[in-house]
Amino acid sequence: MESVDNMQERKLEELSLEANVACPVDPFEKMRKAFEEFKAYFKKEKELFDALAQSQHPKWMIIACSDSRVDPALVLGLELGEAFILRNIASLIPPHSKQSGHKSGASAIEYAVEHLKVEHIMIVGHSRCGGIKALLEMKEDGSNRFSEYIEDWIQIAQPASEIAKAKVPHDSPFEELWTCCVKESVNLSLRNCMSYPFVKIPMEKGLLTLHGAYFDFVNGAFDVWKLKCKIDEHQSL
Ligand SMILES: [Zn+2]
Repeated sequence: MESVDNMQERKLEELSLEANVACPVDPFEKMRKAFEEFKAYFKKEKELFDALAQSQHPKWMIIACSDSRVDPALVLGLELGEAFILRNIASLIPPHSKQSGHKSGASAIEYAVEHLKVEHIMIVGHSRCGGIKALLEMKEDGSNRFSEYIEDWIQIAQPASEIAKAKVPHDSPFEELWTCCVKESVNLSLRNCMSYPFVKIPMEKGLLTLHGAYFDFVNGAFDVWKLKCKIDEHQSL
């Protein structure tokens, strides 16, 4: 039987192979050229950048995975100042809890909603998400744990994994379960988002809309859906 150490080493090797990209001789060369082009754009759009220097008024907050293949600004053509963006592994939002150590997502959403007054929050899941794959492969007893932090983070999406495993027939290809789990984890993060009072209240007032999205970079598709905010009908006691 493979030891835990060997398993950790093999998993990390697999991850580094996945992330491996050809490194140019000068790692900044491409960035320098791109920034030259940006400087020309900066000079041309002086009015826009003068306004952005004073303040930002994005209508969108986008929550996306840190995966290098899913940059929402690139995919959706978002210009500077158009979207407040949060990225983390598997685009997860933990539920509201003052005790939780996960303050990054909560503080970003709070700032976007309370101070920037964004009108839309979109949570984007994507095809072949490594974070969700690791979640699906995680053993309950933690015997195949391979990292110091990653498992603790992706466990936020555990309820989505259970929903996906119940929905997708056991004999289906893994890719089907994987896709379903990504979409369910987006739905879970949308629900978690709504557990924050600073999201729920403007949603109920119609000032904020929550959207789920799935970016499929295998087939070049982008699906979006809306989270309906249901308010119970008034009842006379
Ligand atoms: Zn991902």
